Amino acid sequence: MFNRFIAAILPWFPKKFIWLFSKSYISGETIDDAIRVSKEFKKNNIDITIDVLGEFITTLGEAEENKKEYLNLIDVTNKSGIDGNFSVKPTFFGLLIDREVCYKHIREIVAKASTYNNFIRIDMEDSSCTDMEIELFRRLQKEFPGNVGLVLQAYLKRTLDDIKSLSDLNSTKHPLNFRLCKGIYIEPAEIAYKKYEEINWHFLEDLEYMFKNKIYVGIATHDKPLVEGAYKLIKQYNVPKDMYEFQMLYGVTPNLRESIVKDGHRMRVYVPFGTKWFGYSTRRLKENPKMASHIIKALFYKG
Ligand SMILES: Cc1cc2nc3c(=O)[nH]c(=O)nc-3n(C[C@H](O)[C@H](O)[C@H](O)COP(=O)(O)OP(=O)(O)OC[C@H]3O[C@@H](n4cnc5c(N)ncnc54)[C@H](O)[C@@H]3O)c2cc1C
Repeated sequence: MFNRFIAAILPWFPKKFIWLFSKSYISGETIDDAIRVSKEFKKNNIDITIDVLGEFITTLGEAEENKKEYLNLIDVTNKSGIDGNFSVKPTFFGLLIDREVCYKHIREIVAKASTYNNFIRIDMEDSSCTDMEIELFRRLQKEFPGNVGLVLQAYLKRTLDDIKSLSDLNSTKHPLNFRLCKGIYIEPAEIAYKKYEEINWHFLEDLEYMFKNKIYVGIATHDKPLVEGAYKLIKQYNVPKDMYEFQMLYGVTPNLRESIVKDGHRMRVYVPFGTKWFGYSTRRLKENPKMASHIIKALFYKG
């Protein structure tokens, strides 16, 4: 209760206090930070996907700047010798201002990535964006199969139907490539499962469907029971190692991450960087209010 209260009021704390919490979830403010952290993961046989922090924007000028930032990021990453894999949030490119402009920006990013044979993952945002983001993916998948993927959220009641409706784009040469996660936004009960058990059950139902239908999946979770559920399905369907990977967020459950790697599964870590870390970290904070008390402790016991 106390932790929840702290988590609720923390967004009104001065930014430098929030940074104490944020720094464990964010690689840093610059591309160099993201590259440095990515190289560390590579040394430990862990893949990465890099994300530039920032979301809802208010002008198309910002969308243009954000696109340029990603285009530059793709060049810098490839020059540094890291396999290019990037995550993008469509609202960062103006999805809620002008859908077509957003499509053109993301298309340019995917086109550039494809010249290096890199991969662009379209993150899934709140339910006001779901239809538009699926449509965006559909268009890009047709033009750049193998270079683009989408995130699906197990908490949405529509998700299994969405997977089925995209299945016409699946092929042996270019399997669909989804990241499956629980979903992080607060959605109404009419459209989203709310209970932990319900969400987990549907997560595994979606995962099973993907395995059965030879869809590539990034299993994005830090939840041990879900990891164990995924292990069972991998065994049951004899899923080859090149048809799935596990994914985790930077800074979250490193021990579980290591154990999955030790068990011989491919792992990818989501490495965010950028100056706009405030929204991202307060969302992480609401997910895990216990962190709030750690910050408070850090504030008082630092000296
Ligand atoms: C690689 C990746 C990409 C993602 N992309 C998206 C996306 O595009 N759209 C979207 O809606 N959501 C995205 N998410 C977030 C996801 O939807 C969940 O909100 C988040 O992963 C927490 O769910 P969980 O499966 O880890 O299970 P939970 O039941 O929430 O957590 C399981 C356990 O993990 C630990 N844990 C979880 N979160 C934290 C934390 N922040 N700090 C410390 N410990 C923690 C705790 O021990 C917790 O008990 C992504 C997650 C990952 C891993």
